[in-house]
Amino acid sequence: MKHKFFIILTLLSLQVTASFSQRTSSFTERELEIIGNGAEDSMFRILQTTDPVDSLILRMSSSDILNPDSIAEDEALQLLISRLRITMDQAGGVGIAAPQVGVLKNVFLFMRVDLPESPVQVVINPRIISHATETICFERDGCLSIPNKSGNSERYPWIDVEFWDEKGEFHREHLEGFSRRGNFAAIIFQHEWDHLHGVLYIDKECLLKEELWN
Ligand SMILES: [Zn+2]
Repeated sequence: MKHKFFIILTLLSLQVTASFSQRTSSFTERELEIIGNGAEDSMFRILQTTDPVDSLILRMSSSDILNPDSIAEDEALQLLISRLRITMDQAGGVGIAAPQVGVLKNVFLFMRVDLPESPVQVVINPRIISHATETICFERDGCLSIPNKSGNSERYPWIDVEFWDEKGEFHREHLEGFSRRGNFAAIIFQHEWDHLHGVLYIDKECLLKEELWN
């Protein structure tokens, strides 16, 4: 009898915990485990297309962070952002998306090569609200999840975007630039945005004009 009562109590408390975490966090238990498996200054493991399980996760779609109003107070989200920043820096990338570390949420970081000193921009729940009608073939795209490879990718030369940053501030911006030697902020944004939809640059490979004539 005592045993039965204990089981019922345990089940009840499990249910309460489950509904509590659903209400307060955008993240699944597995995602919270990944985010919390290291300190804020420790790197994540970056998923690789060469690994069969990783490559399936990289093809999945992500979902929005709930309640953009409480972004600044969301401890798990802030830890995710700190660790993504370290991971991108250590790996020498110009951008990284949360799904690349196994967290299927609409969050990415990218280097603002269009601004002085190229600060890292945190992007949460992004939308591309408008883009150029024509596309260009961007030279030598690369990805931290695709080892030892680069290729040209078809991209829009400019995009208008909306997103929240890590302080919970809303941004509406016009991004442009597709020169690898100068500004290519619009390209990095599109590359990272694609990750949120399970799309990789190898899906968008294109030929440069000079290659077409050869
Ligand atoms: Zn990538």
